[in-house]
Amino acid sequence: MPSFASDVKNALSRTDTERVCCQTAELAALLRMGASMVTDGAHGLGLRFAADNAAVARRVLRLLRTMDEALETSVAMERRPQLRRRTYIVNIAAGAAVAPLLTRLGFLEGGTLRAGTDMALLRRKCCRAAYLRGAFLGGGSVNRPEASCHLELTARSAAMGRALHTLLRRLQFPVGLTDRRDTYVVYLKEGDAVMDFLALIGAEEAAEEIEVARNLKEVRAQVNRLVNVETANLQRAVDAAAQQCAAIARLAAAGRLSALPEDLRETAEMRRAHPEISMAELAALCHISKSGMSHRLRRICAMAEEV
Ligand SMILES: [Zn+2]
Repeated sequence: MPSFASDVKNALSRTDTERVCCQTAELAALLRMGASMVTDGAHGLGLRFAADNAAVARRVLRLLRTMDEALETSVAMERRPQLRRRTYIVNIAAGAAVAPLLTRLGFLEGGTLRAGTDMALLRRKCCRAAYLRGAFLGGGSVNRPEASCHLELTARSAAMGRALHTLLRRLQFPVGLTDRRDTYVVYLKEGDAVMDFLALIGAEEAAEEIEVARNLKEVRAQVNRLVNVETANLQRAVDAAAQQCAAIARLAAAGRLSALPEDLRETAEMRRAHPEISMAELAALCHISKSGMSHRLRRICAMAEEV
């Protein structure tokens, strides 16, 4: 069954990114999340990008081609039967075109690799959203709307984990950072933050689905609260009625029922005849107020105590 997260990625992979600045930012984040460098002695640097999602692999391929038609790319699929998973690999063959690409993406500076952040790509607001979209496509996950709110980006380097954490903090997201085995996980747990993030990266539909599910959860919780209050009230009424019936039975057993004042005797008989009705209903049957009925019942119980 396809997960909600993969549905979101499929939809995001179809969005158009027209600006070159944003394409660069998105591709940089995608590769930072899912690519590794391959060195080939004779030809220099190559890249290998892995994704569990075919649409994401296609998007990487498309972005690479838009960036530079001279890049030599190929796609492969690896089956991992024991995990019932497939991995889609985008290979960029080592060659002359790779170094200029890496320089444009900010991975190379003056011929040396930079593990650092991509802040230079993130000066514009549009690019920050594109970068986060790339990070989500390359290593993101989000809980289905019915579950508790949780979205995370799993980076494979501490530098990338910190960069995403910093970026999201600057954008005022209540973001957390933790490491899990060899990975660095940046996460959002608040419903509003998860929805804002999804809307920011272009997954408006997913954000709406979460909002609808959240409203439904709220209504359900409210109904449950009301039902609980009602149930508790009902239980109290049933307990009180049982107590009154026991008191009346005790008075009857002691032969004290006929000696009761007229109003109390009438009430006791009514209660015996209708052990299941509420005090309000009992009051109505006796044509007195609820508080009057409450008072009478209390007197009956007090008298039974003395027996
Ligand atoms: Zn841009």
